[in-house]
Amino acid sequence: QPGANVKVVVRVRTLLPRELEKEAPCIVEMNPNTQSTILYAPAGLDQNMKRKLEKKVFTFDNSFWSVNPKDPHYADQDEIYNCLGEEFLDHNFEGYHTCIFAYGQTGSGKSYSMMGTAEKPGLIPRTCEDLFQRIESNDVPNISYSVRVSYFEVYNEHVRDLLVPRKDTPYYLKVRESPTDGPYIKDLTEVPVKSLQEVLKYMKQGDTSRSVASTKMNDVSSRSHAVFTLILKQIYHDMERDETTERLARIRLVDLAGSERAKSTEATGQRLREGSNINKSLATLGRVIAALAESGNNPRRKEVVPYRDSVLTWLLKDSLGGNSKTAMIACISPTDYEETLSTLRYADQAKNIKLRAIINQDQRS
Ligand code: ADP
Ligand code: MG
Repeated sequence: QPGANVKVVVRVRTLLPRELEKEAPCIVEMNPNTQSTILYAPAGLDQNMKRKLEKKVFTFDNSFWSVNPKDPHYADQDEIYNCLGEEFLDHNFEGYHTCIFAYGQTGSGKSYSMMGTAEKPGLIPRTCEDLFQRIESNDVPNISYSVRVSYFEVYNEHVRDLLVPRKDTPYYLKVRESPTDGPYIKDLTEVPVKSLQEVLKYMKQGDTSRSVASTKMNDVSSRSHAVFTLILKQIYHDMERDETTERLARIRLVDLAGSERAKSTEATGQRLREGSNINKSLATLGRVIAALAESGNNPRRKEVVPYRDSVLTWLLKDSLGGNSKTAMIACISPTDYEETLSTLRYADQAKNIKLRAIINQDQRS
């Protein structure tokens, strides 16, 4: 349906060893019946000198509880894929562009949700697997598929191709805007892939390229945005009518920089010293989401959305407020009040964004 909103889900991760060691209390609760997420403020004293329990309640499309595998309603990687990934891949086969992005502070589970581990693969490898499974099990005659993959990161307002060894290419790529297709990256590698093995090979290659840079350059991965894209083209030939239909879908899966980087105004001494490292793309993403959430269906306000103020928002323009079905996974820590509250507020605002997805289809006879 056109005019659907951004789908917003929240996922709270497990307690990490350092949190268990400190015996940090879990301050998040979720209600699986209402899909609400409840956050408890650090207990203070009220006027009567009694401990008060202040809580904030947010409701989302899904609230995924991934704290302890032994808990009832524990949501593992499988469940995230079944509740979100699968539906979005259905849309891709219908000819819609989709985008799923993970937002949250560093260490909140963004990469775990998107990429996952070898034993517990996340949304990206699962989407690849399901995609090729569907293609291979297709029994509609006269339909052909082609899949291409690209993988890039935005770091410090520069675009880097993750599928090309760093020494073989100009390090940074340029962003251009085409009047018909919108913003794109000039000379970005887009490789055709014919099997799951092949696409996973590129996924790993890109991921390695990202983490190599990360150890060399002071934790790039918490400061960079990684965008993994699959392009699915379906060509169907109707013999009777001698008519060819082509459907194109872009599948974007985005692992954003740590959201603690967005807060230029709340900069502490530490952050002030980092100064120029405040993440412009992430700060702009916040302003774009706020502008889109506020403008809703009012087309007169559309022009004030500051897409072009950062590389990431410019490139994701369509995914954020245009021709796409889009979901946000807000990843939260179960122990960090300030960052979790900020992420939940951000997610709550994103729920208001309206999209205008259309089926990308060409017909000729
Ligand atoms: P981010 O990408 O947001 O910085 P990570 O995905 O790297 O965070 O997660 C931080 C740590 O927590 C990693 O060691 C990761 O394996 C672990 N982790 C995150 N989410 C989960 C989860 N749902 N279940 C188990 N471990 C998790
Ligand atoms: Mg990460």
